[in-house]
Amino acid sequence: MKRVYNFSAGPAVLPEEVLREAAEEMLDYQGTGMSVMEMSHRSKTIEGMMNEAAQDLRDLLKVPDNYKILFLQGGASQQFAMVPMNLMKNRVADHLNTGQWAKKAISEGKLYGKINVVASSEDQNYSYIPDLKDLKFSEEADYVYICHNNTIFGTKFNELPEVGDKPLIADMSSDFLSEPIDVSQYGIIFAGAQKNVGPAGVVIVIIREDLITEDVLPGTPTMLKYKVHLDNNSAYNTPPVYGIYICGKVFKWLKKLGGLEAMQKINEEKAAILYDYLDASAMFRGTVAKKDRSLMNVPFVTGSEELDAKFIKEAKAAGFENLKGYRTVGGMRASIYNAMPIQGVKDLVEFMRKFEAENK
Ligand code: PMP
Repeated sequence: MKRVYNFSAGPAVLPEEVLREAAEEMLDYQGTGMSVMEMSHRSKTIEGMMNEAAQDLRDLLKVPDNYKILFLQGGASQQFAMVPMNLMKNRVADHLNTGQWAKKAISEGKLYGKINVVASSEDQNYSYIPDLKDLKFSEEADYVYICHNNTIFGTKFNELPEVGDKPLIADMSSDFLSEPIDVSQYGIIFAGAQKNVGPAGVVIVIIREDLITEDVLPGTPTMLKYKVHLDNNSAYNTPPVYGIYICGKVFKWLKKLGGLEAMQKINEEKAAILYDYLDASAMFRGTVAKKDRSLMNVPFVTGSEELDAKFIKEAKAAGFENLKGYRTVGGMRASIYNAMPIQGVKDLVEFMRKFEAENK
C-alpha cells in the first residue's frame, strides 16, 4: 500500500489514524457484529455515537449553550437556500462577494429576496478581501453573509465585518476547525464536511437558538426547516450516519492533538513553509494579497501555462496529487487542510525547489 500526498481541495485528505480505525471497525462496530453503515439510525448505538460527536464538536469550538449543532445533508450548497428560507423575514440580506462560493450563495439568495452586495473583490479576480471598515449594511437586512475562507481563490477573512445586531452567517466549509473561533460572533456557521472534517454527505450547521423558528418562508419544504432538524436531533429522516461517524473520529483526533489551538499552530507552521518559499522563489508566486492569505488553500503560479502544466505533471509522478488550480484561476493550488502532514508540505517545497533549479 502506498499513500500519496493529496492536496485536493475537497473531498480531501483525512487523518490516516482515523481511516485505520474506521477500517478496523468496518465489520464489527463496538461488538455489535455490524458496521455502522448497517445499523438503524434509531438504535441506541447510533444515537449515542451522534450525541458524542456533537458533544466533542461543542467542546472543540467551545460552542455556547444557546447554539445548536445540526448534522444535515445537501452539502454547503443547500445552506445557500436554507439560510434565506429560514431567516429572511424582511426578504433582504447583505452579502460580501469574495469568490465563486460567495457568488453562488448570492444567486441562490436572489430566488427568495433582495440581495445587497455590500462589498466585492470581483474587480481583481477575488485576490483579496475587501476593506471591512465603513461597510454600509441595510437597515432592513435580515442577516449579513460571508464566505469565511475562499477555497478557490485562497483568501480568508482574518477579521469580521462589524454587523451590530444583525446575525452574521458564515460559510466555513474550507476552514472549519482549522483554528479556534468565537462562535458567539456568528448567527450561523455552516460547513460541508468533505474538506477538513470527514466524507462528503454531511454538512454541519451551528446555529443560534433564537434564529430557529417556525416563521419561515411560505412553501419551505419540511426537510429544509432548521426547526424540524432541531426537534428531531438531526434524525428527522435517515441521517448520513457513516459520514457523521467519521466526523466524530476526526473530532476525537483533534482533541487528542490538543484541540484547535494546537491545530492552529500546526496549520500556521505548515502554511508558513509554503508561503515563505513562494515569497522567496524566482519562479513561483502566490496569487493573493498577503494579509488575506488562507491557511488552507494556497494558489500559486509560475506565470507560464506551459511551465505550470509541466510542474503539475512532474509533481504527480513524484507522488504529489491534485495540485492543479481551479479552472478560473489556473496555475496550481495546494490545499493543506488539517490532515495534511507537515512532512507533506516540506516535501512539496523541496520538490518545488528542485523543479525551480532544473527549469531556470
Ligand atoms: N462553500 C465553499 C467555501 C466550498 O469550498 C464549497 C465546495 N467546494 C461549497 C460551498 C459547496 O459545497 P458542497 O459541494 O458541499 O455543496
